[in-house]
Amino acid sequence: MSWLDDSDDLDDDFEAYDESSFRTRPNPKANRPRTKRRPAHEDAQIGRVLGVDRGRYSVLLDEDTPDEHAITAVRARELRRTPIVTGDRARVVGDTTGDEGTLSRIVGIVERTSLLRRSADDTDQVERVIVANADQMLVVVAAADPEPRARLVDRYLVAALDAGIRPLLVVTKTDLADPSEFLAHFDGLDLRVFTSAQEEMPVDEIGAALVGHSTVFVGHSGVGKSTLVNALVPSALRATGHVNQVTGRGRHTSSSTVSLRCEGPEGAGWVIDTPGVRSFGLGHVQPDNILAAFTELAEIAEECPRGCTHLHDAPDCALIEAAERGELSETGLARLDSLQRLLQTFADKAEQSPGR
Ligand code: GDP
Ligand code: ZN
Repeated sequence: MSWLDDSDDLDDDFEAYDESSFRTRPNPKANRPRTKRRPAHEDAQIGRVLGVDRGRYSVLLDEDTPDEHAITAVRARELRRTPIVTGDRARVVGDTTGDEGTLSRIVGIVERTSLLRRSADDTDQVERVIVANADQMLVVVAAADPEPRARLVDRYLVAALDAGIRPLLVVTKTDLADPSEFLAHFDGLDLRVFTSAQEEMPVDEIGAALVGHSTVFVGHSGVGKSTLVNALVPSALRATGHVNQVTGRGRHTSSSTVSLRCEGPEGAGWVIDTPGVRSFGLGHVQPDNILAAFTELAEIAEECPRGCTHLHDAPDCALIEAAERGELSETGLARLDSLQRLLQTFADKAEQSPGR
């Protein structure tokens, strides 16, 4: 039997794919002896996972070369329990021509530089990976309709900072309301803010900020995220259509996370659109990761007692003491305020958890 004969692997991979469950399944073929002559996959090519649909991955190979092309692949059997998501760098083998009807196999993924997870709620410790290797997060919020809520934005910021991802903020629909009061909440943060109005979208400015980055777009429905994505990536529908053509099913942009290339005069970047992801669970967040985003405060906090929460009632907190002694500038105080608000987002979550 040739190692290319992977029909059993393919059968396994054709089962309905659900990113949220990696349970073990009774396998009727489990006792069948398997060939030992598996190659080490030294010939694997590395590509960018553009999207996933029912266990089939669209993978871009030879990126930025004249040979660039997308292929369809399935997970090799040994990766059955490894989540592979949009933005992953996948190692693929087999027929990588991308010709119609061909299917290749993902045999591994390259170590991720970042990882965004979501959970059904904050107490859910089950890992549900949704985006890999993003280095920026563009939070989309509307000035009105729906009304902006700073606490929701805080949750996105916490998720981004925890993952080591740089957050950006765009306020849409500024034709409907003045966002300045809302934006005052974020004064103490290193947060680049864009504003966008009907017929006046800052496509060039945002486009320039995307160059050379992988930026995950997040926002609640109705805020104008799709409008923005379509303005930045006019071919968005075509690109997401690739997976659809392969499966022959009418799945639309609203239900799956996809990578879209944004090309502008200053270069290209990747937009990762996450439809249907309303929020990220904070069940796994490490407060230290949030503090680390506030470099100068993190230095002061080195003097804090072990396990210090840095919140208002924290005993002997070096940050609070520095503030009380007047050692923080006005900006420093505003930043401490922001830091505490983000840490509070995390602390609230811990309190809400049942059984704690
Ligand atoms: P999504 O759910 O976040 O993808 O939101 P959509 O892009 O579908 O937009 C929701 C609605 O808001 C649509 O009717 C858009 O036309 C409208 N919209 C988007 N951006 C703006 C804006 O800047 N100003 C106004 N007034 N409406 C907008
Ligand atoms: Zn402290």
